[in-house]
Amino acid sequence: MSKILIIEDEGSIADLEKDYLERAGYKVLVENDGTAGLEKALREDCDLVVLDLMLPGIDGFEICRKIREEKNIPILIVSARKEDIDKIQGLDLGADDYMTKPFSPSELVARVKAHLGRYERLVGTGRTPAEENEIVEVRGIRIDKTARRVWVNGEEKTFTNKEFDLLTFLAEHPNHVYSKAELFHEIWKMESVGDIATVTVHIKKIREKIEYNTSNPQYIETIWGVGYRFKI
Ligand code: CA
Repeated sequence: MSKILIIEDEGSIADLEKDYLERAGYKVLVENDGTAGLEKALREDCDLVVLDLMLPGIDGFEICRKIREEKNIPILIVSARKEDIDKIQGLDLGADDYMTKPFSPSELVARVKAHLGRYERLVGTGRTPAEENEIVEVRGIRIDKTARRVWVNGEEKTFTNKEFDLLTFLAEHPNHVYSKAELFHEIWKMESVGDIATVTVHIKKIREKIEYNTSNPQYIETIWGVGYRFKI
């Protein structure tokens, strides 16, 4: 599981960021003060830092510079002031991305995901085998993409190849509604045998394994007349 450090002195913003990132399956640490934040960024084995600029103690500019001297983890700058973002871009302190407050928390999650993916591809080696496995975690469902294994509330469940691919695809694209045709195209690709009714059958099988009550699904929602959506 990737670990993210949030350095942010506004409690409500830190809470919102933490909440969304945790729901996306990340382990999240929060520091409200620049000095403690920098210390944690250097000491803890974090995979990404979400950094505010105006902070008590050491400010975000200095924190960014210091982290960059020692680590190449992604740094995502979040600031209420566009001038500060312009300034840090101008100083070229090595931040990877910038967001102006207020921002959409889903946008933050999307950017974090993108940067972590890119970073992990760049780093590649130097991690223990367990950490190399690509894991997708959503509300009690843990998908190990590398080992192709799935746990639901800690209990391992067995899925066929296509069920696994379909569940993983939906879990990796939460809150996005896909039509049966889109899912069929995505999962079955060139294997044009069968038809989109196959999707319905597979969704039913997946629900039997992951849902507590299949008539009131908490994960894969049916959007009538449109398709399916994985709820986050
Ligand atoms: Ca601040």
